[in-house]
Amino acid sequence: MYRRDFLTLFGLTLMGIVNHACGDNSQEYAEASNKKRIVVIGAGLAGLAAARELHRQGHEVVVIEARERIGGRIWTSLKWTDMPLDLGATWIHGTQGNPLTSLAEQIKAKRLITSYGRTVTYNTSGQVLSKAEEVQMENLRKKVFKILKQTQNEEIDVSIRQAIQPLIRQLDKSSEAYRFINFILSAEIEQEYSGSTQSLSVQWYDSDKTFSGDDALFVQGFRVIPEFLAQGLNIELGQVVKEIRWDQSPIEVITQKAEFIADHVVVTLPLGVLQSKSVRFIPELPRSKQNAIAKLGMGVLNKCYLRFPEVFWSVNVDWLEYVSEKPGEWTEWVSFNHVANMPILLGFNAADRGREIEAWSDTQIVASAMEVLRKIYGVGIPEPTDYQITRWATDPFSLGSYSYNPVGSLPRMRHELAAPLKGSVFFAGEASEESYFGTAHGAYLSGMRVAKEILKV
Ligand SMILES: Cc1cc2nc3c(=O)[nH]c(=O)nc-3n(C[C@H](O)[C@H](O)[C@H](O)COP(=O)(O)OP(=O)(O)OC[C@H]3O[C@@H](n4cnc5c(N)ncnc54)[C@H](O)[C@@H]3O)c2cc1C
Repeated sequence: MYRRDFLTLFGLTLMGIVNHACGDNSQEYAEASNKKRIVVIGAGLAGLAAARELHRQGHEVVVIEARERIGGRIWTSLKWTDMPLDLGATWIHGTQGNPLTSLAEQIKAKRLITSYGRTVTYNTSGQVLSKAEEVQMENLRKKVFKILKQTQNEEIDVSIRQAIQPLIRQLDKSSEAYRFINFILSAEIEQEYSGSTQSLSVQWYDSDKTFSGDDALFVQGFRVIPEFLAQGLNIELGQVVKEIRWDQSPIEVITQKAEFIADHVVVTLPLGVLQSKSVRFIPELPRSKQNAIAKLGMGVLNKCYLRFPEVFWSVNVDWLEYVSEKPGEWTEWVSFNHVANMPILLGFNAADRGREIEAWSDTQIVASAMEVLRKIYGVGIPEPTDYQITRWATDPFSLGSYSYNPVGSLPRMRHELAAPLKGSVFFAGEASEESYFGTAHGAYLSGMRVAKEILKV
């Protein structure tokens, strides 16, 4: 009853079902017979890129999306009307040769550049690092990355934490050097790769490629890209996919309120969602794909935006860094004063610390952030007038921020994740990209790859 009821209720609006359910042998069907009926699951960058390309090539495409919005992990908040803020991806990382730069140029989206060259780093007691501390930090950084590089050549893979354990063991836990190492691991590895250093593979954590050039953010928010890609597409919001019956023709995709049929399906479910098994594949996915899903890691990066009545921090910087007492807590901050002339600070927490803090109440999170800011800028600083906080690890349609390579994973697993099933079900999404995983451009490129794969069938 469930299936038929929904067919009747939603059938007319659903591409694919119209042809199938009406048994329509008319000229209209004949004209469309070389068209493929394609269901794309997920309206994030991967899904929208694939759908746009396939639609442009004349196929009948419907995008089905669980949330009541498009964009997925690109999510611009318009809560503060004078400043769109990105709760998911913020930057085009490396603007040169980046396909997102070309899209941004096509739509003339205004961008601003933030620079690591404009960074100030504070020690645990809230003082700007002295020259001696800077030198100490730089020496430790060199030691850490030298050890990581050396360990990469060993046969047995270990975690980053394990690799630098001999260095850490020599240090007193209350020493500045110990805190500096934790700072380096958080700021330069966990915040970038989203996995914990206890879990990140020393051999593969940095197996990704990067584009050169600046980091650019969008004045109107990253949403301008998904909004552009979505133009003219048939997108069904609020459709939570529950089941994919894939070893048959046509394929059936069953959501909590409708059924879709298709010749081809593009799956762009985030790795965290695939790992949770909240979407059932019937029959089960091949072992190699299940193994890749289980072995790759889904990490966490959370944001806390604080808005103040006025700016009380250093004005000419983009990045504020803090060598925290508790490893990884509020180590990285972005100021929106220099780049956008707004009294807004953005604090990050990643990996295990990000997961732990995500479970706190908003009040606790803001209080903890303010404790750090008071340590740096004094007890007299104003309370924030408002805040915006993300909780990506517990978001049911993401279950994490982006993927990383833990110990036990191999880069080829991303190919196994990407491999199509019987030339009918195709896999995209940032986690399926060997070279650019964990990024918005990786998601976009994966969508373009899948479109090509389908066009070849
Ligand atoms: C906090 C944060 C900061 C980031 N910063 C950057 C950055 O600055 N630069 C950068 O390049 N990258 C960044 N990223 C990474 C980037 O956002 C992602 O890699 C990219 O957006 C992923 O796109 P996707 O299409 O693969 O997945 P998604 O955008 O997650 O799309 C998948 C879609 O599937 C939907 N879905 C899930 N379950 C179901 C279901 N059962 N049924 C139907 N639909 C479902 C989801 O709602 C979602 O819309 C960041 C990510 C986060 C979270």
